[in-house]
Amino acid sequence: MPDELSVWAAAREVPQRTALVADGAAVSYVELAHRVQAAAAWLARQGIAAGHPGRVALVAAHDEPTLLVLLALIDLGVTVVLIHPRLTPRERALLIADTTPSLVVEAPGPLSPLEAAPATPGPTTNVPVDGAHAMCILFTSGTTGRAKGVLLSRNAFRAAARASEANLGWREDDRWLLGTSLAHVAGLSVVMRCLIARRTFVLPALHRFDPYAIEAVLHRDRVTLLSWVSPMLAQYLDAERTMPRTVRAILLGGGPASPRLLQRAKERGLPIVTTYGLTESCAQVTTQILGTPPGPEQGAGPPLPGNEVRIVDGEVHVRGPSRMSGYFPPGAHPDAVDPEGWLHTGDHGHLDEAGRLHVSARRADRIVTGGENVSPVEVEHALEQLEAVRAVCVFGVADETWGAVVAAAIVWNDPARGCSDPDLARALAAMLAPSKRPRLLAVLDDLAWNAGGKLDRAETAKRAIPHLRSLPGAP
Ligand code: ATP
Repeated sequence: MPDELSVWAAAREVPQRTALVADGAAVSYVELAHRVQAAAAWLARQGIAAGHPGRVALVAAHDEPTLLVLLALIDLGVTVVLIHPRLTPRERALLIADTTPSLVVEAPGPLSPLEAAPATPGPTTNVPVDGAHAMCILFTSGTTGRAKGVLLSRNAFRAAARASEANLGWREDDRWLLGTSLAHVAGLSVVMRCLIARRTFVLPALHRFDPYAIEAVLHRDRVTLLSWVSPMLAQYLDAERTMPRTVRAILLGGGPASPRLLQRAKERGLPIVTTYGLTESCAQVTTQILGTPPGPEQGAGPPLPGNEVRIVDGEVHVRGPSRMSGYFPPGAHPDAVDPEGWLHTGDHGHLDEAGRLHVSARRADRIVTGGENVSPVEVEHALEQLEAVRAVCVFGVADETWGAVVAAAIVWNDPARGCSDPDLARALAAMLAPSKRPRLLAVLDDLAWNAGGKLDRAETAKRAIPHLRSLPGAP
């Protein structure tokens, strides 16, 4: 049986098909296999060969040499620890101390295929690897504290790719943009889905999200599929960039998408497909059914085939073959998965009558004020309806009387034309029940975003707290 995850197996099946478009240049599967072999030869010189029992850490820069080392490690069946390049040296050191890799690879430099020839007589790769083998350790975003190391097997990636395909399908001409970091499950999944389906992924030479540069890549490289988090979509819309007709689905996940953002995308005719997933489930668990009209009623769609979702005391539990093997180090967070195999996600939500999942908040983010539970996401969505608001983050501030009070950090579209405090208080009174209305407000130049482009609530709150003032109408 050819290994779906092996670039060499792919090269034998579809040698001339484009595997990768790297900074505008098409690379066929056979050419990619040769380059991966060069990376394997380079690894051999560092003492890493097929079946190496230890781990190799890879600082996941968004470039071709890094990608080649990653694919070589996957082919060789060596567990790769992916480190986000934007972590601080201290954060990086902690992850490396936790995972004790035999080798840390950073900026491997160009890997010439010629280099491979003398070092290795044939495909070094193409070694049979057990499906349960830990393909990688990915770290969660650390939204709720220290990032957690998640062990994902080859089987988990296979199952996740199959589930995704059941909804999105594949077309001959599909090209998926690698728009998020390889160190994030959303980014790595793009590569794995394309490799398993012998399709094409696009690796642009971009080191941050720039709507103008992305627009150029989408047109030039005839991209058909995108995976974005909401802030990326918001920036793209704010910059009024065009979306080429080739783009057939924009998978939108990683966090809540506000009704206003979905409305703006709908007005522009963008093919949004909302999704809910997490590192621990190897990305997508639920996804809006392709072709259904976008809108808040879709939530994050129903579970993909093979995935089960249930709600227990408001918490989302998920189960299925793409679930992680466990956290790293083994034994960490022992209560995350119960004896029946359900992963307790820590997210709150509900399933509607059509079986679609609606995520309201992370459990840890909920604000309990005067005994009432308030979802910060619901308050943010209400505030985002106001024209003057560009971005908003809602969080709780400890309070002796109420336990906590609702606070909002707002970024105005135009700092000179923000709402006055009384106008804002009036608008809030019209939209939200009293317990949900922010009583404290800070105006910021920007919110804090983590390395994966997601809102960092804790860091935003830290920045906002010194600037908080009471809103009129507050007790
Ligand atoms: P950590 O687990 O370290 O706190 P994290 O939860 O951000 O960080 P990820 O695995 O990157 O780590 O993200 C998964 C989380 O993203 C989910 O648990 C959920 O909170 C959020 N999320 C993903 N998709 C959606 C969605 N469609 N709607 C709302 N939230 C979502």
